[in-house]
Amino acid sequence: MTFGIDDLPVRDELRGKSPYGAPQLDVPVRLNTNENPYPLPEPLVERIAERVREVARDLNRYPDRDAVELRTALAAYLTKTGHHRLGIENVWAANGSNEVIQQLLQTFGGPGRTAIGFEPSYSMHALIARGTGTGWISGPRGEDFAIDLPAAERAVAEHKPDVVFVTTPNNPTGSAVPPETVLALYDAAQAAKPSIVVVDEAYIEFSHGDSLLPLLAGRPHLVISRTMSKAFGAAGLRLGYLAAHPAVVDAVQLVRLPYHLSAITQATALAALEHTDTLLKYVEQLKAERDRLVAELRAAGYDVVESDANFVQFGRFADAHQVWQRILDRGVLVRDNGVPGWLRVSAGTPEENDAFLDAVRHIKKESQA
Ligand SMILES: *Cc1c(COP(=O)(O)O)cnc(C)c1O
Repeated sequence: MTFGIDDLPVRDELRGKSPYGAPQLDVPVRLNTNENPYPLPEPLVERIAERVREVARDLNRYPDRDAVELRTALAAYLTKTGHHRLGIENVWAANGSNEVIQQLLQTFGGPGRTAIGFEPSYSMHALIARGTGTGWISGPRGEDFAIDLPAAERAVAEHKPDVVFVTTPNNPTGSAVPPETVLALYDAAQAAKPSIVVVDEAYIEFSHGDSLLPLLAGRPHLVISRTMSKAFGAAGLRLGYLAAHPAVVDAVQLVRLPYHLSAITQATALAALEHTDTLLKYVEQLKAERDRLVAELRAAGYDVVESDANFVQFGRFADAHQVWQRILDRGVLVRDNGVPGWLRVSAGTPEENDAFLDAVRHIKKESQA
């Protein structure tokens, strides 16, 4: 018997659990993690090198702990695109929105407290809850994967969670949540506790609708989390951020590690934000490809959930994992999220999407033969 994890005194709630892990397989076409398929444009690569060179000299010093320049630039981006005026005091940044969410749960969740999400949704919300000792409540969704508002309101009233997660557009199912639903959940959460409502807008730039940023006005318990991993095509950068009432920004500073955001990260993110217009053009291309995937999957006879994101959930399958494997056998990696009967495919380049569509059309023919 070799010494293993079970022989260590790990916390009870971590025993027997698995870490987050989308398979990283070496196949020609990888459409499984909702990354942006386009490499960063060359002028941006140059600008990143320039900005990083400037800060490299000062790496003997700790970085700007409050990331003032970066938060100012993020606030300007949100103000410009979100139809809502925000300043640096409304914005906080961390290493990916996963760290933002961790800081929020460390601040507003924790031992003896609970968080709720409406599942299937982003699995990291539950995992980060566990990691921070926050109890997790799996709230309901309707048959069509939309949030069933009366059922959700009842769950909030019954459990009185400290943190409520709403992912819009939702991952893995793809649809945006109507603003009225978010507002009703906010009101239910305030009546029950009052609790913090975290709206995860990781995919909002791909949506047919607008960001919920304007809802922040007069709602100090509302937090909107965003990321540069998807629309900005910078998953490798690790930069997430939130917009909220300044009191929330003050509160998360109680738990953030000192100097959590490296000078390199801040410089790189600032360079990317300088190229916002170019990067958002890729978003338009991906939205067109996403719409093409929806149309072609439907034409091929698959069920597809309406998508406001850069991915599409399709089905239905008696055995989704077996279909996942058959698509993989044709050189295309999609995602099996464990939602019974469904798979998820990220919008890639036109060539990658063609490869995927060829594979699923072929599989459909085989199963009808
Ligand atoms: C991809 C994703 C994120 C992004 O996490 P990062 O840590 O910013 O890379 C956040 N929320 C949802 C719902 C996601 O799908």
